[in-house]
Amino acid sequence: MQANIKKHIKTENDKKPQCPHRKKCGGCQLQNLSYEKQLSFKQVKVIKLLGRYHHVCEIIGMKEPYHYRNKVQAAFGERGKEIISGVYQSSTHNIVPVDNCMIEDQKADEIIVTIRKLLKSFKLRAFNDVTMKGFLRHVLIKRGFASGEIMVVLVTSVMDFPKQPQFINAILERHPEITTIVQNVNNHRTSLVLGEKSRVLYGDGYIEEDLCGLRFRISPKAFYQINPTQTEILYNKAMEYAEFTGSERVLDAYCGTGTIGLIASKNAKRVVGVELNPDAVKDAVTNAELNNVENIDFYCDDAGKFMVRAAQTGEKFDVVIMDPPRAGASLDFLRSLVTLLPQKIVYISCNPETQARDLSFLTRKGYKVKRIQPVDMFPHTEHVETVVLLERCKNEQAK
Ligand code: SAH
Repeated sequence: MQANIKKHIKTENDKKPQCPHRKKCGGCQLQNLSYEKQLSFKQVKVIKLLGRYHHVCEIIGMKEPYHYRNKVQAAFGERGKEIISGVYQSSTHNIVPVDNCMIEDQKADEIIVTIRKLLKSFKLRAFNDVTMKGFLRHVLIKRGFASGEIMVVLVTSVMDFPKQPQFINAILERHPEITTIVQNVNNHRTSLVLGEKSRVLYGDGYIEEDLCGLRFRISPKAFYQINPTQTEILYNKAMEYAEFTGSERVLDAYCGTGTIGLIASKNAKRVVGVELNPDAVKDAVTNAELNNVENIDFYCDDAGKFMVRAAQTGEKFDVVIMDPPRAGASLDFLRSLVTLLPQKIVYISCNPETQARDLSFLTRKGYKVKRIQPVDMFPHTEHVETVVLLERCKNEQAK
């Protein structure tokens, strides 16, 4: 056992859970632990999974680990004559009514309650996913904590919106701080929140947010980190590990709206971003323009396929920053990565299990883990984010 695992006290329940919805919601799995013990729990988890590769630095927690989520979504339904809004009970389609959540943005929660109350006076029904009847399915809210901008997305079953201007005015009268309202139509039998069609009902249809000294556009569908306070810490750590000198060619793989690549572009020579979601890529291109960054290009592609092509055409990257979804990187991606042979890989992950699997591959193919830093992006939940620095071993040839 590593020395730093011993330091972490055994985590036993030591706290009365605060949230009345905890049993049905299931989102905050660690709320019966004090925050200090939650951090210990996560530290131990990372050490167990990644500790065999390197010493694990002390997890970076939050000073105020509440109401950190800048993205909030509520499902709407009916219980008897009452309209309810809240979260799905874990692994079911039953809605647990929730008006105040200890990890969600409070303003977003207030807006959701307002919308629910307004539905009745406008004689609008909530959607029923068994009969597929009714109007409002979900409300999604994204808030720029630094910019103050707020986007409300009303997910409806059909485009036809009775008394739409009056309904929008009624929301805005009660919440003038909202900067844009979008209607999205989802008429499928699906657990996905958003459908394909959208129209802007008020404002620009997106919000902007400030992060690490840059401005970012966030549209309804694109991925954006949900805890902005910890995201700055995470990204700064990634930049510290990359140690740019101004001469590097950098790949930002799984780049989302281009956040990491754009931050890197300030100190590197050239950056390429690759991302599968076309909406995110559109935002990434806009974000480059918004920040007057000219040394960056974005490609909409599967990161694995992109890497295979890059390896075939003899593309060269000095640093690869990768931030894949929970499933980790594909084997295609990893195989091409070790053919491209960048000097450094900065691997950001929201799932240390798949990261451990990928590190096992990379360390067998000529890379050595040099740093491991856990960051608590999701207090009260069991999730933990990690940033890992790998360096190419000396004299390593392409395999
Ligand atoms: N680096 C970004 C986004 C990380 S989330 C940030 O910090 O904001 C992971 C991203 O990977 C998502 O934007 C998702 O759309 C994208 N993605 C998922 N599978 C992918 C694939 N096969 N190829 C490329 N991108 C993918």
